[in-house]
Amino acid sequence: MEAIKEPIKISDSEWEVMRVIWTLGQSNAKEVTDLLSTNKNWKAATVKTLLGRLVKKGVLQPESQGKKFIYTPLVSEEATVRSATENLFSHICAQKVGQTITEMITEAELTAADMAMLRDALDNKQPVAEIACNCIPGQCQCKVHTHDSFKVKENKR
Ligand SMILES: [Zn+2]
Ligand SMILES: [Zn+2]
Repeated sequence: MEAIKEPIKISDSEWEVMRVIWTLGQSNAKEVTDLLSTNKNWKAATVKTLLGRLVKKGVLQPESQGKKFIYTPLVSEEATVRSATENLFSHICAQKVGQTITEMITEAELTAADMAMLRDALDNKQPVAEIACNCIPGQCQCKVHTHDSFKVKENKR
């Protein structure tokens, strides 16, 4: 596992740009615009704005080459996807992660190879005895929180 870093947070539009640059290795505004203008109907100015934001976020490294810039990714696609998944799970109760993953598996289209990979991952996973709720009181209805809020009301009387 990698050390915990700042989460990589990019918008859906920025993600579209990054996918092109990850695929090409590095790219410039014209190339990205040419590829995305057909399907997305994005103008050069839109792409330039998005590239600028990605540079500000430390996701892209610009390098001037004559009159234009060449952009190189500073984060990998895998790390960005992982960060987005961690971000999703940070919005739900730790106790609901298993249920959420199960729903994701149920919804996903999977090949036999994908399913073998999932079974392997499960077989090699060590279960934990218990998962503590990590929610702020009022954000979930687990036993602890329902009980706690009940106690607070009792004490007030
Ligand atoms: Zn919770
Ligand atoms: Zn709770």
